Amino acid sequence: MPMATRATAAPNPGAPPHDPSHPPIPFALPRPSPARKERARALLAALDARYPEAECRLHWTKPHELLVATILSAQATDESVNAATPGLFARFPSPADLARATPDDIAPFIRTIGLWRMKARAVHESMAALVERHGGEVPRDMDALLALRGVARKTANVVLGNCFGIQAGVVVDTHVGRLAKRLGLSRHDDPGKVERDLMALFPRDRWCDLSHLLIFHGRAVCRARGNACGADAICREWCSEAARMAREEAAAPRPATGRRRDPRTPAPRPRRPA
Ligand code: SF4
Repeated sequence: MPMATRATAAPNPGAPPHDPSHPPIPFALPRPSPARKERARALLAALDARYPEAECRLHWTKPHELLVATILSAQATDESVNAATPGLFARFPSPADLARATPDDIAPFIRTIGLWRMKARAVHESMAALVERHGGEVPRDMDALLALRGVARKTANVVLGNCFGIQAGVVVDTHVGRLAKRLGLSRHDDPGKVERDLMALFPRDRWCDLSHLLIFHGRAVCRARGNACGADAICREWCSEAARMAREEAAAPRPATGRRRDPRTPAPRPRRPA
């Protein structure tokens, strides 16, 4: 179903004034129909019921650790990041420690993760900026986070949502982008446009949870390859792909189970017991 693209005039829909968990949204959002919003809410309820354990899969105990882990997770698996960060955080426990370390000091701890040279520099420089500009604290502000090296909107949304409960946007990674399209939530490929569609469709206090729920469904059922279309209740109800697969299955010729009897020929007599 095509989505209306008229922009909303209100930059911060539904938020109480000065609520720090709902900062102003600096761009216009699409205006989906009430029916589309209702559909999104019902899907959210189904995902909630299916994945009550959905949460951030990266391991962290302090905000700067989640910031570093998210920088490291670009084009890498969460598992590979979780395997590397305990050693890194044990050797360099604070932002100041990582700021003092050179990229060459950091590199040996993250060599198992893709793009490690570039990421070692990003970790060092972002932590140095944290120390210089923010007293060693992770800023609770989108623009301040975006000014750090290696931090784009996805990373900033992860940190703001998970560390501080700030609903500034929706995390759109490859799972969320794929699911958004397949479940009819967005027709875009560009992560920024997908994020705006999701922000417009779902209740703001659930934006952070939404990405966890979609990521869990993406990993469990709707994988990039070899997914379980048609065999899953959420898919059957919400994804047109599942309906298409079910139609194709119903239309496909049934495998032969034996020679069919011509209805004009008499039925064979039952055999006498020997
Ligand atoms: S039906 Fe297939 S494509 Fe649609 S959400 Fe499920 S697994 Fe993904």
